[in-house]
Amino acid sequence: MKLEYPMKRNGMYLLKKKDFDDIAALVLSNYMPRVLEYPKPLDIESLAQDEFYLDIRYDNIEPDGRILGMMAFADTEYYSRGYSAERGAIELAEGTMLIDYSLCGKDNRARRRYTQAHELSHWICHRGYHSPTNQQYEFRRNRYVACRTENIESYRRNDFSERTDNDWEEWQADSLAAALLMPKKTFVEAVETLFREYGVRRYLLPGRDNKIARDIISEVARTFDTSYRATQIRMIHLGFIARD
Ligand SMILES: [Zn+2]
Repeated sequence: MKLEYPMKRNGMYLLKKKDFDDIAALVLSNYMPRVLEYPKPLDIESLAQDEFYLDIRYDNIEPDGRILGMMAFADTEYYSRGYSAERGAIELAEGTMLIDYSLCGKDNRARRRYTQAHELSHWICHRGYHSPTNQQYEFRRNRYVACRTENIESYRRNDFSERTDNDWEEWQADSLAAALLMPKKTFVEAVETLFREYGVRRYLLPGRDNKIARDIISEVARTFDTSYRATQIRMIHLGFIARD
């Protein structure tokens, strides 16, 4: 699957907010069409492993839990900054998705799923950018991307002016992750059904509709197996919750 979008000379795609819904629809209709039939959770592990042939592994990446996930674009190794040198490197084969051990367990299911979708999104969007054989310039990029806690599932204001390529990369991975886990078509369907049930006309207004908003967001989050926060952000982006 190749993305047909404009690219900077260094291999970084130039993507707009609305592109991610299209890319997610393309990926899902190609590989997991049934998830688009009605609102339901995406089997993100199966999408990554069975369709993109990625290897999902778990390890303690950094002792402070600062890095939640990594994606290796070529065979490489990662030396943790926080562990002693005796620990040695974590070997990463091309196509390895490394998820921090802190995300294991039932309580972290939604954040783990989001991180997996975020890492898969790096694979989909940034493989060319990081590939050592694909680079036209001498500047060598890391063979992996390491994703910090603050970059995953965050809600940023639209300050695009001072973004580095790395910021763009993280923003793109986060945007595509949300669009994969909460595809626009079925997400809109789910929210509109609940709006009808709860008698909400067009959108929720913070302050006025707090109680209803909490109930609706929780129910949508259950439907897609996503966190409350990620679901709320998706609803804001799609205009179902007014920005305050
Ligand atoms: Zn990332």
